[in-house]
Amino acid sequence: MTELALSRIHFPVTTLGPGMRIGIWFQGCSIRCSGCISLDTWASERGITSVEAVFQTMQPFLPHADGLTVSGGEPFDQPLALGALLATWRRSHSGDVLVYSGYALERLVPQLGRFAGLIDALITDPFQLETPQTQALRGSDNQRLTPLTPAGLVRFQSFDRALRDDERELDIMFDDATGTVFLAGIPRRGDMNRLANLMSLAGHRIVTTQDKTHAI
Ligand code: SF4
Repeated sequence: MTELALSRIHFPVTTLGPGMRIGIWFQGCSIRCSGCISLDTWASERGITSVEAVFQTMQPFLPHADGLTVSGGEPFDQPLALGALLATWRRSHSGDVLVYSGYALERLVPQLGRFAGLIDALITDPFQLETPQTQALRGSDNQRLTPLTPAGLVRFQSFDRALRDDERELDIMFDDATGTVFLAGIPRRGDMNRLANLMSLAGHRIVTTQDKTHAI
């Protein structure tokens, strides 16, 4: 059994790569970008499970999935779990793999050998609140999209461009049991505040997971 700290799994996710994707968010992030919209993923001691259990949860989605997107949290803070999960995916599914990381690409390069053939495309570099946000699949324009395999080149090179006005930005998922609403995708700057204000005007109070000390 390989231990994995998990924040959540969702399917289908349509805003973080092409097609209908399984989204896996790792729990725990040591990078701590100002303005992060996912403070709930920072603590590393939550969501302890195993790669095997995560893959079991994914089973019903596999026949319908076009690909896998791994985000967080910081996936590379759990390299053993990330490698085991992606190797299991490769043995079971032909869909592409996109992994998000807040580490700079240069910092990841020395350890990419252990993931050879497992990651089709990487989006790297920390979120920067002060940097404009115009690029597809990215929260700030300093972040780089790097295809790592021939399949990654085919599937992701076309995303190395500005976000189009007609592109879907967020998937919305509801958890009736907890009253939690999860937004998958890349919100535009200020979206979370606009959402909170709209809900407040409608008489609802919502608690968001963004870094409110730096949020705009
Ligand atoms: S934006 Fe990503 S890398 Fe940065 S603190 Fe948030 S979860 Fe970590």
